[in-house]
Parts: sequence; C-alpha cells; structure tokens
Amino acid sequence: MKICLIGQNLTNLILTNVFTENNLSVDIYLNKKTKKIKTNRTIAISPGNFDYLELLANSRINSWKSEEIKIFTEDSPSKEIINFDKTNREVFNLTYYSKLYELFLKKIIKSKHVKLIYSDTSKPSIIKKVKNYDLVFNTENKNFISKKFFTNKIKKDYKGQAYTFLINHKKQNNNTAIQIFTKFGPLAFLPLSNKQTSIVFSCKGNKMSDQKILDIFEKYNSFYSLTKKTEIEKISLGFEMLRNYTHNNILAFGDLIHRIHPLAGQGFNMTIRDIKIISKIVENKISLGLPIDISVGDDFQNSTKHLNYLYGKAIDGIYEFFKLDNKIKNSISKPVFRILNKKSVFKEYSNILSDKGLNL
Ligand SMILES: Cc1cc2nc3c(=O)[nH]c(=O)nc-3n(C[C@H](O)[C@H](O)[C@H](O)COP(=O)(O)OP(=O)(O)OC[C@H]3O[C@@H](n4cnc5c(N)ncnc54)[C@H](O)[C@@H]3O)c2cc1C
Repeated sequence: MKICLIGQNLTNLILTNVFTENNLSVDIYLNKKTKKIKTNRTIAISPGNFDYLELLANSRINSWKSEEIKIFTEDSPSKEIINFDKTNREVFNLTYYSKLYELFLKKIIKSKHVKLIYSDTSKPSIIKKVKNYDLVFNTENKNFISKKFFTNKIKKDYKGQAYTFLINHKKQNNNTAIQIFTKFGPLAFLPLSNKQTSIVFSCKGNKMSDQKILDIFEKYNSFYSLTKKTEIEKISLGFEMLRNYTHNNILAFGDLIHRIHPLAGQGFNMTIRDIKIISKIVENKISLGLPIDISVGDDFQNSTKHLNYLYGKAIDGIYEFFKLDNKIKNSISKPVFRILNKKSVFKEYSNILSDKGLNL
C-alpha cells in the first residue's frame, strides 16, 4: 500500500506515527530541507491528548502543567468570574511548538518506514507526483492542491490578529492559566515555568505596532513582574471549515479542514483527536484485511465532519458571547457565571469537552 503525506508541519510529523506503528511505509513531501524552526509559539494540550502524544513519541514530552484556569472580564479584572480545575489532573500541558516538532522529526528520520521527498508543493507538478498513491494526506493550507481542490469552505473573518510572545518574569508559583475577555479581545496568560509565561492576545482590528500591543498588555497584567519579553509574532484570525474533506485519492487534514479561533487553545487538540480517529480506522481496516486507501478518508469524514463543525462553532459562540457581553458592560456574564461557577456538572462537562471533543 502506498501512502503519502504532503506538508512540512507538526500535523504530518505526528500523523506519520499512525502508519509506522502499523508497519506501513509512508512518503512525506516536504518543501525544503528540514531545519530548526524559529518560533516562540506554544501549544496547550489537553491531558488525554498529551498522554496519547507521549505514547506515540515513546518518550516524555517536556511541558508545564496548569492546574487551574481563571476567567476574567473587562469589568472584573481582579476577581475571576469562573475557574476550571480538575481534582486529580492538570487542566492542560503547555509545550513549545518547536520542541514538539523536533522530537517527532527526530523520531521519523530514524524510521525505516519513512521516506522524505523534497519537492515544491506550490507547483502543479505535485498532482502528478501523488497521483499513484492509494492514500494521500494533504495538511498544507496553501499548496497547489489546496488552492485547486480544497477551497469550498465555510469561512468567517474575525477581522483581527493574534499576537503571541513569551514573557520572562520574577519567579513565582505559576500553575494557574488566566484568560481575560478584554474589550479588545481575549488575552491569555499561559504558564510555561515559574519564570516564564506564554501570551496569546487575540485583538480586533488591523496589525498594531509592538509598542501598542505592549501598552494594552501592561494595562491588564497585574499578575507578573516582567524582566524580558521575546519578539511578538502576528497572525490573522479566521474561522474555516472545509465542506468536503476528500478529492480523488486525497484526504485534506489538520488546520486545512478546521481552523478555529485560538481563544480556547483547541485547534491542534482537534487535530490530535482526528489523528486518534484515523488510527482506529486504519487499525480496523488492517485487522479486517481491507486496503488502506481513500476509503479511510471517507470513513473519517463521515465520523468527524459534523462534529468538527459543531465544535468549531461552539468556540466561535464563546467568542461572540464575550464580544456582545463587553459591549453591554459584562451585564450577561456576571449573573450567568455567578450561577455556572457553582455548578460542578457544568465544569466537569467543560473539562470533558476540552479533552475529548464531541466524539465521545
Ligand atoms: C495564536 C494561536 C494560538 C494557538 N494555540 C493553540 C493551543 O494552545 N492549543 C491548540 O491545540 N491549538 C492552538 N492553536 C492552533 C495551532 O496553532 C494549529 O492547529 C497548529 O499550529 C497547526 O500546526 P501545524 O504544524 O500542523 O501547521 P502549521 O504549519 O503551523 O500551520 C499553520 C497554522 O499555524 C498557526 N500559527 C501560525 N503562527 C502561529 C503562532 N504564532 N501561534 C500559534 N499558531 C500559529 C495558524 O493557525 C495556521 O493555521 C493556536 C493557533 C493560533 C493562531
């Protein structure tokens, strides 16, 4: 069986393991020779997904555990409106994107089942190159195949940017993640160690200067005493759900099928859950002696598309709720969360949904 993955990204590096674990060979089409990636971005990974990644990596993954998440609003910047915690586990693990990338890259470079092929995926010739595979995964948003066959999407432009950077600060106990729904948009403080915290600020409007971002950040930062900060990375915010995941022998995957608002730190968690589902489909087919071909893509699409859409929409709903709430001086969130904060069932379900998604 001939399987290939197109794209130089974390999604593919992790997805590859599903096949190599089953002794299937995989070709990966990469744009350029892999080198160290330069980014300070971090990824929050839910406990169940984190266990799964450690199992796939066959090693421990360096991360920092947050035991609690506190939510604040513009009107209540020093007293949280709700907090989420777990009795016997962390709420999420924060890790550097680059470290996760390097760990999985090292693992697949060593694998005898993986062949890396360098090829410009933005050129039409990529279609011919992947035509004869039984199953092709395409995880790149902007390559030739995505632009030609995977453009029919439900889209929303948040007309805003996400700004990400790390802050170094004076040593303190740092196991509580914070999200403030400011009038500019959600601002998250995600602990990385007792001396370092990752900042994700999703802000309405055009790209702002670094100074303006820092001014807004300082206005809300009553938690950390800063010593240093890294460069600010900027990315535009959007919501995209692909209407059809397959074309001929190609299955679209990762951020290409669902791109969501980062406020809940769920984008890559959705992809990890998708990888678990692909893994089950592949194992099932192997055990029945069935071929690993585009039928894997069809089964995957049938079991996930509606749920991925609902999940992404729910996160969009949270964004819209707080946007409206901010316009009316947090007058909805105050009474609603006063009740919800006391409801352990609500918190329990929120924890389950952020860990397991809707595919329970
Ligand atoms: C600001 C931001 C924060 C996020 N935080 C989380 C999180 O905590 N947990 C989680 O499960 N998912 C998160 N995501 C989604 C996650 O980043 C993507 O699912 C993941 O990067 C896809 O990885 P990849 O290597 O397969 O693809 P890539 O090659 O990384 O594909 C590009 C994607 O990377 C994302 N991206 C680009 N620059 C940044 C940046 N500076 N910071 C973060 N993402 C960037 C974009 O969403 C884009 O769609 C976040 C997305 C954004 C935009």
